[in-house]
Amino acid sequence: ANLHPLLRVDGLGKAFGGIQALHNVSFEVFPETIHAVIGPNGAGKTTLFNSITGAYSPEEGRILYGEKEIQGRKVHELVAAGIARTFQNVELFGSMTVLENVLVGQHVRTRCGFWGAMCRWPSVLREEKAARKRAMELLEFVGLEKVADQRSLDLPFGWQRFLEIGRALAAEPRLMLLDEPASGLNPVETHQLGDLLQEIKKRGVTLLLVEHDMGLTMGISDYILVLHQGKKLAEGTPREIQANEEVIKAYLGGA
Ligand code: ATP
Repeated sequence: ANLHPLLRVDGLGKAFGGIQALHNVSFEVFPETIHAVIGPNGAGKTTLFNSITGAYSPEEGRILYGEKEIQGRKVHELVAAGIARTFQNVELFGSMTVLENVLVGQHVRTRCGFWGAMCRWPSVLREEKAARKRAMELLEFVGLEKVADQRSLDLPFGWQRFLEIGRALAAEPRLMLLDEPASGLNPVETHQLGDLLQEIKKRGVTLLLVEHDMGLTMGISDYILVLHQGKKLAEGTPREIQANEEVIKAYLGGA
């Protein structure tokens, strides 16, 4: 087993005006694991995600990705370094087809980015066939190959969530952050999501997810971090978290 964490958050702090959204939060995520972040509304989960993915610059603490400090880095640098994310509200290029969304996901990793790639048109044409093949394989992986040519906005909501995951995977991330991936999914889709996330882990991608569905979280996570009012309340295996008195009192008891 690889004993070096892929991600290390060390003493992270972030305030909005008088509200301390994160206070001295530290934890480690090991390669090829599924790591969940749970906690009541306002616990700081989204702020944590936004700090790791470059949307916010934290005031205190460090975020290490491998050996590199990444706090305050730009979103595109983090994507190029292998960190991808999905959002609480699905964010797709709605008027594009399902296939095109995945193709855009691939291009964010190329040297000059999606729009920059337009300037290298001849080489884009040469690479297009291979890119389409890879994109179709990814769509098959997430179960959407039959609707590749449909406009993504016309898909049922649950399928849009799977497409967003496919698009994030197209960037070939090592670390993928998923913000409430089961939100809005029916029980069958939630089960399919759980299977898919475990398959993604088997392919060598490390997953960090914020999730409110406790059945899913307890079922697939290797390790869980519990946030409460911006602080770390507990961390441990699903079994340890479910048995933790403080967690039950603050969070799980009411769920
Ligand atoms: P939820 O489960 O509802 O998504 P959360 O755990 O993701 O909650 P955050 O969204 O990170 O929690 O919010 C943590 C705290 O920081 C809350 O008190 C919130 O009101 C505050 N906060 C978050 N973002 C901002 C912002 N941009 N401006 C001001 N306050 C913010």
